[in-house]
Amino acid sequence: MPGTNLTREEARTRADLLRVDAYDIELDLGSAREGGTFRSTTVVRFTANTPGADSFIDLVAPSVEEITLNGAPLDPGSFADSRIPLPNLAAENELRVVATCAYTNTGEGLHRFVDPVDGETYLYTQFEVPDARRVFASFEQPDLKATFAFTVTAPEGWVVVSNAPTPEPVGEGATRVWKFEPTGRISTYITALIAGPYVGVFDAYENGEQHVPLGVYCRPSLREFLDAEAIFEVTKQGFDYFQEKFDYAYPFPKYDQLFVPEFNAGAMENAGAVTFRDQYVFRSKVTDAAYESRAATILHELAHMWFGNLVTMEWWNDLWLNESFATFAEAVCQAEAPGSRWPHSWTTFANQMKTWAYRQDQLPSTHPIMAEINDLEDVQVNFDGITYAKGASVLKQLVAYVGQDAFFQGVQAYFKRHAWGNTRLSDLLGALEEASGRDLKAWSKAWLETAGINVLRPSVVLNTDGEIESFAVLQEAPALPAGAKGEAVLRPHRIAVGLYELADGALVRTDRVELDVDGPRTEVPELVGRHRPAVVLLNDDDLSYAKIRLDEDSMAVVTEHLGGFTESLPRALCWASAWDMTRDGELATRDYLSLALSGIGRESDIGVVQSVQRQVKLALDAYADPEWREQGLARWAAAAEEHLRAAEPGSDHQLAWARSLAAVARTDGQLGLLAGLLDGSVEVKGLAVDTELRWTLLTRLAATGRADDSAIAAELERDNTAAGQEHAATCRAARPTAEAKAEAWASVVESDKLTNYVQEAVIAGFQQSDQRELLAPYAAKYFAAVKGIWETRSHEISQQIIGGLYPSLQVSAETLAATDAWLTEAEPAPALRRQVVEARAGIERALKAQAVDRAAGAR
Ligand SMILES: [Zn+2]
Repeated sequence: MPGTNLTREEARTRADLLRVDAYDIELDLGSAREGGTFRSTTVVRFTANTPGADSFIDLVAPSVEEITLNGAPLDPGSFADSRIPLPNLAAENELRVVATCAYTNTGEGLHRFVDPVDGETYLYTQFEVPDARRVFASFEQPDLKATFAFTVTAPEGWVVVSNAPTPEPVGEGATRVWKFEPTGRISTYITALIAGPYVGVFDAYENGEQHVPLGVYCRPSLREFLDAEAIFEVTKQGFDYFQEKFDYAYPFPKYDQLFVPEFNAGAMENAGAVTFRDQYVFRSKVTDAAYESRAATILHELAHMWFGNLVTMEWWNDLWLNESFATFAEAVCQAEAPGSRWPHSWTTFANQMKTWAYRQDQLPSTHPIMAEINDLEDVQVNFDGITYAKGASVLKQLVAYVGQDAFFQGVQAYFKRHAWGNTRLSDLLGALEEASGRDLKAWSKAWLETAGINVLRPSVVLNTDGEIESFAVLQEAPALPAGAKGEAVLRPHRIAVGLYELADGALVRTDRVELDVDGPRTEVPELVGRHRPAVVLLNDDDLSYAKIRLDEDSMAVVTEHLGGFTESLPRALCWASAWDMTRDGELATRDYLSLALSGIGRESDIGVVQSVQRQVKLALDAYADPEWREQGLARWAAAAEEHLRAAEPGSDHQLAWARSLAAVARTDGQLGLLAGLLDGSVEVKGLAVDTELRWTLLTRLAATGRADDSAIAAELERDNTAAGQEHAATCRAARPTAEAKAEAWASVVESDKLTNYVQEAVIAGFQQSDQRELLAPYAAKYFAAVKGIWETRSHEISQQIIGGLYPSLQVSAETLAATDAWLTEAEPAPALRRQVVEARAGIERALKAQAVDRAAGAR
């Protein structure tokens, strides 16, 4: 639908013509409990610099009842293809649109959810990228900023939160009216409305004269689990840190954080009214990695209040800058803010962000960080590992390149110069050049306009006394997948080289050299004449973005002593290196398993432990030689059980191993242990078998045919919540029967009734790695259905299905051939093609890695 898919060209033309002043938006949510539709009345005032010109406003709605432009009625029938044409504009215009809009259950627009615990209705908006137009008529592009004044009618007793502070509601009877003050000039995509019988906890950020009211909200059924104090603590640390580093006071009148149901992303930076997925309100024990990740998200959204909300990208091609900055900001704040509980955040950054970026950057769809975004469909599939994680990694490299003080000075100038406005990348780079005195054009070209990952390898030559005779860093151009955009280039890298000695099993850094790597070979004269250390680690401290390889001697030490690094960051870098060598077919899966088993017992960083656990399972499922796979899984399951029993009672490690065992348990003994933990007949000292862990155990029992429908129903009875319903859907879809698979498939593919969260849960249950044969017939069904799904479902819903139901478990030449045939015959739209091509790349990589593992088995 071209009308829905606004192009950059159309946006540019409209921005050249119009200046939008103010929206007054009236929403009647009085019958929200019944669902269906609601009335939306928009009055928008704007000017046009060419009187007589035509334009249009965006709206996605079942119907339009009234259009009045400058006092004259227009035919409501002119509303078509998600647009209202605006002919013959005056210099000053007032447009009034009365429409019937629809509640959604996909997490897009105005999402409506009914909590099974209290039967109450909860609403929230999610507008990024282009969904404000599902709630009110809007000029849906980030550079047409305006003020927004919402007037909301909602049931009496409800809590209504928006960007402006919540007013006292007026009226009597069954509904009340909330009339909000206008916002400052902001973009449509960060306006917001959250309404329902939510409960709030309140505090304030105080700093001298400054007083910012803070609120934290969730549904009443989650209130007992809401640790608002911990959330306020991180929030206040963020206020202190960002206000100082940005030298700009928080720009909005209050700061609310709302934990809302069935939220698609982690969170959304609506100005002063941030929404979060409510799994961040922890119902059961989670590891410290989950608290760290939540804190990072809180800080990420807070950083957006300046970068993104106060100063906003002109068009979505700079989305990467918005997301990269916030992602960099979350990590640097956690690392440096006084009182931070996670000063090792760069380890997590290396472990998670870098891994995500490296994976995405090797897909056929990889692209330069500065992507061409020609229309809204382009941007909707671009919330990816390049935009968030590679962009943030490259910003970290930029900070190392210009120095952190100069970086923040540039950022300060940028905020002051462009407050409440829109910018392009060049505006930020200009400010950074002024502050640092460095010319960033070559840097920007090498890092932002090209795709792929360089590989850095050490070249160490020793003399007869075992001293270093020459030391160089070799750089390779990225191996870009066929069809990838951009050219493969060498880049300037600011890196550190760490030298580590082994003593009593501990690997301790004895020296560090920082240098600029440029070109294919960079000599490091500082290291000549030195004794050869046990481990030479390139990119120590993780300053740059590159794949790191170890020389043979270092690799031998690391394979045996990875757990011996006394610091967490070099361990994380070596774990990451081993993982991407496995993915690249440079390390056989069985050798990766051995390395993991030797090192993981000494790994203290729980986030790293959990990543390695996931990666080992993934490697065994996808990259192991199928003939040997079962042996590998058995070895891993046995290790998981041992670690579970040996872990300190009540520790995070114990919980992580319990979950890891539940993902892989296969022997009667192991499955019996899961069943025993669930029914209470077996105890592992200190392990709380709480609500979430119970579902984890039950899912594996269901998938292996040891828990039937009545067991699932009984568990749902114990936990009859929205989360419980989702888990039950996963369990039912996981059962190892043809009927269960057919039922799950039909509910997702043949019906569109599932909400975004239930659908995701069904897909997760459907795909079970030890049900390959049972699932084999669904490969053909997938290709028959996928185009229709793309054409008829919403963006979020179809994205879940396209990626989630692709036959990823059928690693074979036949799957590649079937994919290729479909790609040729179906002529998919670019955004659909991209998702299928990405999934196909997983099969190709797995086939290659399986061959490597098979060869290793034969040696
Ligand atoms: Zn963000």
